[in-house]
Amino acid sequence: MRIAIVGGGISGLAAANALRQRGQDVTVFEQAPALGEVGAGIFIYPNSLRQLERMGFKEALAAVGGKVGAGSHYNRMDGSVVGNIVTADSAGWNGMYGMHRADILDVFAKALPADAIRCGHRCVAVEQSGDKATVRFENGASFEADLIIGADGINSAVQPFVTEPSPKDYSGFRAYRGLVARDKLDSWPDRTHQVWMGEGKHFMVFPVRSGTLLNYVGFVPLAYETVESWSAIGDRNELAASFAGWDPRIGHLISKIDHCFWWGLFDRRPLKTWINGRVTLLGDAAHPMLPHLGQGVNQGVEDAVALAILLEGRSSADAPSLLKAYEALRHPRASMVQTEARQNGKRYDSEYASLEKRDEEIRNIAALRLRLYDYDIEKEAMAVRAAA
Ligand SMILES: Cc1cc2nc3c(=O)[nH]c(=O)nc-3n(C[C@H](O)[C@H](O)[C@H](O)COP(=O)(O)OP(=O)(O)OC[C@H]3O[C@@H](n4cnc5c(N)ncnc54)[C@H](O)[C@@H]3O)c2cc1C
Repeated sequence: MRIAIVGGGISGLAAANALRQRGQDVTVFEQAPALGEVGAGIFIYPNSLRQLERMGFKEALAAVGGKVGAGSHYNRMDGSVVGNIVTADSAGWNGMYGMHRADILDVFAKALPADAIRCGHRCVAVEQSGDKATVRFENGASFEADLIIGADGINSAVQPFVTEPSPKDYSGFRAYRGLVARDKLDSWPDRTHQVWMGEGKHFMVFPVRSGTLLNYVGFVPLAYETVESWSAIGDRNELAASFAGWDPRIGHLISKIDHCFWWGLFDRRPLKTWINGRVTLLGDAAHPMLPHLGQGVNQGVEDAVALAILLEGRSSADAPSLLKAYEALRHPRASMVQTEARQNGKRYDSEYASLEKRDEEIRNIAALRLRLYDYDIEKEAMAVRAAA
């Protein structure tokens, strides 16, 4: 099938690779003039790494990832350890990396032919007629395809052509985030993810770019609704003041920061549907979620693999019914993760009567993490194919 993907983010490029590997003719249309360096740390967990390694990305991801394993802890605000963060699946396979967003984008882009990605194409409309769908761009260009996939993020332009958008919810939090060179800190627990939790706030650190950089994020409540931005400049002093009196390791790390950005945290409630005829949604366009489980990228990768398996070897005439199977497989799991991500933020921000109760709830996250990590979308999608 001839497939157009709108959006050259991590989900869009993962889908382009998965679909091409399974025989489809795919073109990605990205609004930005070039695939960007914007952003910082994201997590890759076993549920998506398992898929990406099968797709041939094992070495490339190992080369740029920041390995995360034993010694990863949930901490009270004073630094005392509450429990271990689960970093392996039930079989004991440690498939967890911190990644710079630009590094993983680069890995996916390099695996595609240069003419498969067209930058400078901002989608403004989608139309369908008979057995074709057409995507129109702000620059006057258009592209006709058997299938259009909206992988264009939380403010998706494709989404309104698929379904009524669900309201964007402000979480009440601002995230201060950025990178600090690992060698600026005398000592740090390398190859670990650390989370500190206090009333209404939490702070986390994990390695990216082969462990040479540490990605930090401080989640701080903000009473007024702020803009959603990946590049707004944050104030290091504001961040330091928000975590004054916490574990001294946090203050020490903040003192080494050169640049700080902030981002207003939003998500949307699950959409009624992700499909309309020959048009579908994938990644954040389908299920934007709060970052409190680090599953955003991972759910996009699962979508990509599911769609590629369900479409493999099938004709254009089958596309609408195959999209229904895609939605039936992916919507329940992604909606569950969206809901759990909200809930996990509340756990981290200690919305409990006592610290002891909070600590108990935090230790219980292990079961949820294993449920997320153990899932094998390839197996699930193959089962759907076999049953059809
Ligand atoms: C610039 C940027 C920086 C980010 N930084 C971080 C970060 O530091 N930490 C983190 O946890 N998450 C970050 N994210 C979010 C994270 O990348 C996503 O939650 C996750 O990777 C799922 O990605 P996605 O591909 O579904 O959506 P996105 O990553 O949002 O990608 C969507 C892509 O679609 C493009 N696009 C949007 N509208 C149109 C249109 N009308 N026509 C054509 N193309 C369009 C966008 O330019 C973007 O490239 C960032 C996202 C962006 C866009």
